[in-house]
Amino acid sequence: MTRTDVLDTIDSQLDWQRNLYKSFHREPELGLEEHKTSARIESELNDMGLEAMHVSETGLVAVLENGRGPTVLARADIDALPVTEDTGLDYSSTVEGVMHACGHDMHIASLLGAVQLMNENRDTWSGTYIALFQPSEENAAGARAMLDDGLTSKIPKPDIAYAQHVMPLPTGTVSTKAGPVLSAGDSVKITVHGRGAHGSMPHLSVDPVVLAATIVLRLQTIVSRETDPGEFAVVTVGASNSGSKSNIIPDRAELLLNLRTYDMGIRDRIIASIERIVTGECRAAGSPKEPTFEYYDQFPLTDNDAASNAALTTAFEDCFDVGVVQPASPATASEDFSEIPNAFEIPYVYWMIGCADAEKYRRAEHAGTVNTDIPANHAPNFAPVIDPTLELATKAQVVAALSQLSS
Ligand code: ZN
Ligand code: ZN
Repeated sequence: MTRTDVLDTIDSQLDWQRNLYKSFHREPELGLEEHKTSARIESELNDMGLEAMHVSETGLVAVLENGRGPTVLARADIDALPVTEDTGLDYSSTVEGVMHACGHDMHIASLLGAVQLMNENRDTWSGTYIALFQPSEENAAGARAMLDDGLTSKIPKPDIAYAQHVMPLPTGTVSTKAGPVLSAGDSVKITVHGRGAHGSMPHLSVDPVVLAATIVLRLQTIVSRETDPGEFAVVTVGASNSGSKSNIIPDRAELLLNLRTYDMGIRDRIIASIERIVTGECRAAGSPKEPTFEYYDQFPLTDNDAASNAALTTAFEDCFDVGVVQPASPATASEDFSEIPNAFEIPYVYWMIGCADAEKYRRAEHAGTVNTDIPANHAPNFAPVIDPTLELATKAQVVAALSQLSS
């Protein structure tokens, strides 16, 4: 059997995969609480005659050993989001306020499908195939949880790792690129201190509301004045909280920032700029206490290995029709997947699977407008088109694996 023959056998299992997708969609669970999801994945693996190893509370790994050869790791994330679904689909979420609004249900159903194909076609490859189901991607906590539970010592060291994500691009396309493909993301909680007083006696205060306002404005200059215009960086102040009543000057203010970068050097410079500006403004205001900086929800850069990406792109082009494989543009979203290959010190490739109605997408592109009919990930009306998204996502995982494991 050739690689294409293996891919063709998918027809007999697509109904099972569609049902899997819909049932994961109906029962979403938040990060680190994916108990039912994890149990269902385990039972599906068991039905294939495979064992599921628990790594972290809800993370799972299946290792398919099949003779000598390289080791490939494929990862799917399994968590959902605190979003109330508004798609009108007959397989909508049955859990109040929780939704698979980022398509991780599609990732699970695709990877289970790929495992089934790899397991049924063992005569076409040799080596080791590792399927890893990772919890809590959205909180940047799941990859860390699996590593903290000893992932690197529990499974054979992979030679390469692969992951994919559904995106609001036309269904029936897979896109990838060398180098940075998703940004590094950081959140910062900044607390600045003032001196509280009656609202009628501002001269007795150090007003943290005014201080926070000057900081918010000054922070805008990090991207506009300090960053090379050819470089990518985002600094967003997502929350500014202080005070409770019109006639009270509070004694502190809190700012929540979000940063996105494609270059760790630029990221470090931006963090230094933030601390410099905040500390400087506090001094200028006569703040009685040093500001504090708390860093959280930190996502690493997703940076595809150039040689591995070139080899994978060729494999995709060999197996898929003309027009299916597209160059990716770097996205400003962030992921914790790369923590896993980084821990093993191995290369990785992360690619995008289109999941939007292709016709609607083309119409919007033709009209040169931003298509509001195509909801993005995390939106309450995000509804990936199942066909052929699920089939292509499954095949993409298999092609990636076979590109390493079949001679
Ligand atoms: Zn997401
Ligand atoms: Zn996601």
